[in-house]
Amino acid sequence: MHMGVGRTCMFFLCCSRAQSIVGVVPLVRFGFAYVTSPLACSSCAMAMKYVPKKHKAPAAKREQQKRSEHKKSAVKAPAWVAGGSSPKPRIGKALKKVFRRPAAAPGRGSQQSNKHGFFLMADRETKHLKKRPAAPTPYVPKQQQVPGDKRSMREASGNGLVKCETLLKMGEKSLIMALRKGGHLDADQKNCFHCKKGKLGILKRRSKKGSWASRCGSCKKWTSPHHGSPVFMVSWGSAHVPLQKQAAILHCAAWGLPQSKIPAVIEGVKRFAVERIFSNWRRTLAAHVEKNQDKITFGGVEGAPDEFEVDKAVWRKQDIGDGKVEWTEFVGLKRRGDRASLYLDRRDPKHSVSSRAENGRAVPPPFSKPEWKTISDKRVFKGALAHSDGAPVYRTQPDGVLHDSISHMRRRGQKKPQFTKTTTHADASGQSFKAVAGTQSLDGWWGHGKAATKGVNARYDTSVSQRVREAQWAHWVGNRDRWVEAGRVISWIPES
Ligand SMILES: [Zn+2]
Repeated sequence: MHMGVGRTCMFFLCCSRAQSIVGVVPLVRFGFAYVTSPLACSSCAMAMKYVPKKHKAPAAKREQQKRSEHKKSAVKAPAWVAGGSSPKPRIGKALKKVFRRPAAAPGRGSQQSNKHGFFLMADRETKHLKKRPAAPTPYVPKQQQVPGDKRSMREASGNGLVKCETLLKMGEKSLIMALRKGGHLDADQKNCFHCKKGKLGILKRRSKKGSWASRCGSCKKWTSPHHGSPVFMVSWGSAHVPLQKQAAILHCAAWGLPQSKIPAVIEGVKRFAVERIFSNWRRTLAAHVEKNQDKITFGGVEGAPDEFEVDKAVWRKQDIGDGKVEWTEFVGLKRRGDRASLYLDRRDPKHSVSSRAENGRAVPPPFSKPEWKTISDKRVFKGALAHSDGAPVYRTQPDGVLHDSISHMRRRGQKKPQFTKTTTHADASGQSFKAVAGTQSLDGWWGHGKAATKGVNARYDTSVSQRVREAQWAHWVGNRDRWVEAGRVISWIPES
């Protein structure tokens, strides 16, 4: 912006009227532009705070100024620029990241790198078939590894004999026979449901109602085949639910379908029937699991130690007044490589109470030594190796039980928390062996157990417990047919 000598103020912000002209200023710097002797009015000159300069700067100095301007606006060099992290400002054209094609696999042409097209696809598709190099110390020790391919088991369960639809299409008599055979119905129903004494006759079709039942020899009353069942219900009139539908609901419950989705699977199903059968199933299953897990123990073996994991997890917390919080916690034990060895002990709610801090926070009380002793005395025997986290309580183990722990806490100078590490122990004969410390197997299961109780209110204590037991059973069963397993669960009840 060059202006000649004028009499009016030429700045835009000014009044543009000739007022009091300050006088001739030969060179005025205004922003980046040099203005030759503008005759700014006094108000303008003050508003813009121009710095008068004597003369136009020499060429060399101008270049220097230009550079310093550039320096201010220069973008920091990206990290990938050679020279590393030193923020050396660059002048001129920005550097481009040079793309280098990854090296081709040996035996392939220079253009055939596996980052593209067919070779990439081929690589991806065979990735899961390629065997990973075996770890020097396996996580699941050799003596506890289960032979067989897990994948093939999954396929077999897909060809399960009975489906929900199969049950719905069956005739009543054949259904009763099938359920009796599978253990879903009591096969040796002998005594009358009404008088409890009379002997029942053979299964007959009742002429009036058309349903199948047995008649009592003494009181002459009819007893349905599902009378006294822990899961099925006997109801009349508008509340009557055909046995086919009840069996189909149980089938869905056993396979872990969400209760709310049953109307989408079974036609014309009544809500109360779904609720009743689901709650009956869960109660039966929880009783089954709690009783049967009593058989699970660790150790008590000669030779190679029995490696198991122990950990504790929190499900729910709720306020019980006076700033106290009660926790729903489970202590879990599991033998590595053995699904059916998952043992869960509900921590006594009386011991699992803590107070809220002033800021409102609460943490569950630490697992105490007496509590661990009551569990370990019954479950853990000589010849076992316990893997645990860093909690001090697990340092106390029964006699002859080896122990190692891992602290998930990050230590100074350590970038990531540690979850496994290789440890060395000496077995009973004094021979040293290596093991992998950590509770990865149990830590993985907690996620499943907690997902099973999603949406269940902490107030319904038994509901939370029952769902946890359901998830525990699902873990025991693994890839096996759950309908068949459900038969085993229900048929177990009359025995006890
Ligand atoms: Zn009777």
